[in-house]
Amino acid sequence: MENYIVRGTDRNRQFRFFGANTTGIVNVATSHHGTSPVVSAALGRTMTGALMMGAMLKNDSDRVCVMIRGDGPIQGITVEADAKGNVKGYPHQAVVDIPQKENGKLDVSGAIGNAVMTVTKDIGMKEPYTGQVAMLSGEIAEDFSFYFAVSEQTNTVVILGVLIERDYSIKQAGGIIIQVLPDATDEAISEIEARLKSFTSLTQCMEEGKSIEDVIKMLLGDDIDIMDKTDARFYCDCSKERMERALISLGKQELTNIANDEQEDLELVCHFCNTKYAFDKKAIKEIVDEL
Ligand SMILES: [Zn+2]
Repeated sequence: MENYIVRGTDRNRQFRFFGANTTGIVNVATSHHGTSPVVSAALGRTMTGALMMGAMLKNDSDRVCVMIRGDGPIQGITVEADAKGNVKGYPHQAVVDIPQKENGKLDVSGAIGNAVMTVTKDIGMKEPYTGQVAMLSGEIAEDFSFYFAVSEQTNTVVILGVLIERDYSIKQAGGIIIQVLPDATDEAISEIEARLKSFTSLTQCMEEGKSIEDVIKMLLGDDIDIMDKTDARFYCDCSKERMERALISLGKQELTNIANDEQEDLELVCHFCNTKYAFDKKAIKEIVDEL
């Protein structure tokens, strides 16, 4: 189980937690998109956060979409996750090269810029639920926390980490979400706040060989109940049929123009996984004829 999500509570049911090891997932995503390090960090953090939000959904068909739109060089990040551990995502600009921060860390907030984070949940209602927050931090984990506080009125700690190798591959990636439950005492909350203050880095702990569960125990104490541990994966549900539907949505006139155009065959690229789908003129004419 290389990529996984765990969820549970502390023994006294004062906090619930979600944790994810996403090293493999972020590796797949960043190699699909050929991202530079700061984009890998931003995309990996967003995907890990969204994946854990997916684990909060109730039904298998529920989905969550996290969209970041900013004026920094990345421009935006779009990630979708579901309740079954599937996640996919892409950056609007895959290669961004900006100076590191003074502490030697990747400047994710600089690459994101002034931004808005929009969370859309499709939970089988007529209208999807949408919540939106201004990204005050831009480091993404804090912005998820702020989203939970503002849009879901939940006191939430979000920890996200992506550690990148010299060859740009992903060495470690993961995340933890801790939410305060109604029965939590002030004393218990203060205790966790103190532990969080002295907590340094999730990926550093992973480098030392600690599992996500080990780190959750560092924060919540050894007495935790793990209710669920499930596989997670990068998964894109694009297909030739879906791309065909996207073409159809262009309308008959536009498609006729494309089919009559002297240019070469049409190639559609899936944003999420970079898979290319080719439609030659004959195929486009057939689609037009069916309309
Ligand atoms: Zn795809």
